[in-house]
Amino acid sequence: MRIRFWGTRGSLAKPGPTTVRYGGNTPCVEVRTADGTLIMLDCGTGAHELGRDLATGGPQPVHGHLLITHTHWDHIQGFPFFAPLFVPGNVWDIYAPGGLGNRLEATLAGQMEYAYFPVTLDQLGATIRYHDLVEGVFDVGDVQVTARYLNHPGLTLGYRLQAGSLVVVYATDHEPHASPASEASSESDASSQVLTVHHEDQGHIDFLRAADLVIHDAQYTAAEYPRKIGWGHSPIEYAVDVALAAGVKRLALFHHDPMHDDDTLDHLVEVCRQRVAACHGALEVFAAAEGLVLELSEGDGTASPEAERTASAAVDERGEASVGRATVLVVDDEPDIVRLLKDTLAPEGYWLLSAHDGETALRLARLERPSLILLDWRMPGKDGLDVCRALREDPDPELRRVPVVLLTAQLGPENISAGFSAGVTDYLTKPFKPAYVRSRVRGWLLRSRQDVAGERSPNAELP
Ligand SMILES: [Zn+2]
Ligand SMILES: [Zn+2]
Repeated sequence: MRIRFWGTRGSLAKPGPTTVRYGGNTPCVEVRTADGTLIMLDCGTGAHELGRDLATGGPQPVHGHLLITHTHWDHIQGFPFFAPLFVPGNVWDIYAPGGLGNRLEATLAGQMEYAYFPVTLDQLGATIRYHDLVEGVFDVGDVQVTARYLNHPGLTLGYRLQAGSLVVVYATDHEPHASPASEASSESDASSQVLTVHHEDQGHIDFLRAADLVIHDAQYTAAEYPRKIGWGHSPIEYAVDVALAAGVKRLALFHHDPMHDDDTLDHLVEVCRQRVAACHGALEVFAAAEGLVLELSEGDGTASPEAERTASAAVDERGEASVGRATVLVVDDEPDIVRLLKDTLAPEGYWLLSAHDGETALRLARLERPSLILLDWRMPGKDGLDVCRALREDPDPELRRVPVVLLTAQLGPENISAGFSAGVTDYLTKPFKPAYVRSRVRGWLLRSRQDVAGERSPNAELP
């Protein structure tokens, strides 16, 4: 398997004398497998040079698979400038998270409207097929792809690619679910303790498990992170800790902050290597650099188990995972919080219900059987944990499995454990950012819908 980095910078292209070594273009990574399958991860400004490379070398016409993590600008800005899309005879399969109401094609067409760009989407010469994804497993050539939601203020998928025994995981635009306390985060022991407590961080570790290479968001340092919580990016220390916990071989720091110049990145790599050494780990850490080519060969790696196909297939061709008409119950004793959440979620088209105390919440849940419950922890009378326990013991199976997200201001390790043992699905920490709330709510709804579909047809395959 050959990996080539064409763009490594996060958020904003940053060319110039201080970024020549690690690169200034936004995310784009090329993956080639032994049977010639071409996978392109994201389509940031790095895609321009990859497009030139594909046009001048290699077999023609080109059949490629573009896996987009999400449609924030830095991940799609190279799309209108990617020459292979203009060549008749070429075929491109494009994948991105779906279930947004807006389909992928419409989102890409949006950035090519006349006000922004002179060529429209339907003028591209290549045959383009769009695939809206949800979490799950699908095949691309000889590669088995597993998609998993990441923690980002915009619905984002990470991709785990397995070809033979080789595994590469691309997990960018993601931040920790449990934020390590800032003073504890420089101590690897303390922060890895927090990691194992939160089910979602544990799920992220499982997603990276035993990979030969993990390309991971590493935009901030532990010192910078407390001011950037909710922006959807990882401190380098977290990237190292999850890679260590997952028994990963190589970690490529990725999505470099535009404020981090080449010398800063050299220093950050050194910080990571010292962290690995302090844990007596065998992880190899480097910073992804534009132009860097990695060859991974079989035998390098220990065989990884095939991803289980218990979840239904990830490709949602018919848009069945749309969550437009889902019912969401919002429960908080503070009217301002209820109003804020309802205002944030109303434009998504959900049917919104609200309650200000635990008793009413339970009554409404039994009556209306919502698809998702956002539930305040601290309330007079029945608190969030009481309500959650009651739901998990309810005779109605819908209420036993409905995702319950606890709203809380503090998220220490003890709090996290207490909630999970009461049957809580996940947490949303106050104060909320609207974009963050919207993307997490979509993720929870889509995932729970997948779980139900998986139960109905455990061996669902692609049509
Ligand atoms: Zn990004
Ligand atoms: Zn993003």
